[in-house]
Amino acid sequence: MHQNTLCPLILGLHRIGYPPKGAAIRGLFTSPKLLRFELAFLKSLGYRFSTLTEAFLFPQPKTAVITFDDGYRDNLIAAESILSEFQAPATVFVITSDIGKKSVVWEEAGEKLPAAMLSWDELKKLKALGWEIGSHSHQHVHHNRLNEKQQRLLIADSIEAIAKNIGERPKTFAYPYGAYDLTTKRIIRELGIHYAVTTRPPAGALQEINNLDKLELPRIAFGGRHLLHYLRAINKTRAAIKPGNTIFSSFSVGTRAIFPNFGKSPFPARDEIVP
Ligand SMILES: [Zn+2]
Repeated sequence: MHQNTLCPLILGLHRIGYPPKGAAIRGLFTSPKLLRFELAFLKSLGYRFSTLTEAFLFPQPKTAVITFDDGYRDNLIAAESILSEFQAPATVFVITSDIGKKSVVWEEAGEKLPAAMLSWDELKKLKALGWEIGSHSHQHVHHNRLNEKQQRLLIADSIEAIAKNIGERPKTFAYPYGAYDLTTKRIIRELGIHYAVTTRPPAGALQEINNLDKLELPRIAFGGRHLLHYLRAINKTRAAIKPGNTIFSSFSVGTRAIFPNFGKSPFPARDEIVP
């Protein structure tokens, strides 16, 4: 008997750490504690973790996929050890023209603080640890603002760079800024991409895998470090898993009530010092 399998729960993250002073886009940062909390929460619900491609190649009822956009160096430095505690290999979508750069700024993003990006050697290390290396195009631009030729050049360059340096053609893609059009979809399909993620959350419940457009996969985005972010992360996760069972309207909800299996509260102390 064929079992209906739901779309894997795909989580979208960027940086792991704390936003430094002057960071314009603070939501790009997810604290290590929130990452660990979300992984523990999903594990307590019976979820297992896999890369994006493996989630579709070997579908199982409760699968979560951790994705990182852009390819920040902190994914290796700050996130990898936490993910490995949960046997959670992530999928990282890299901007191939920025690989190995120490201080990247994207004009279109409106963030002036420079960021350090993963190098090819570091990406190979992550690949050896079971991570998947996907494409986030060659430059961090809005693809829907480009013509077909420009789009194809960027996407093809990115795919070739990954194939050459990692030794395997990428099967996955994340649209920079979540921006794309029908031409983008056609190009990535022609260039061998099987699965592409958007920045849109699942509409209502997760859909069955067979009903999905695999080049427009929904993702749950989250970041932050405060209690509010933790509650938001639970809400978003539960909204996707169990519609109608989503809202904690009050902060008086005890963490024991939410996490009967936890010995101690996963929430950070109030006076947590932020570096
Ligand atoms: Zn991005």
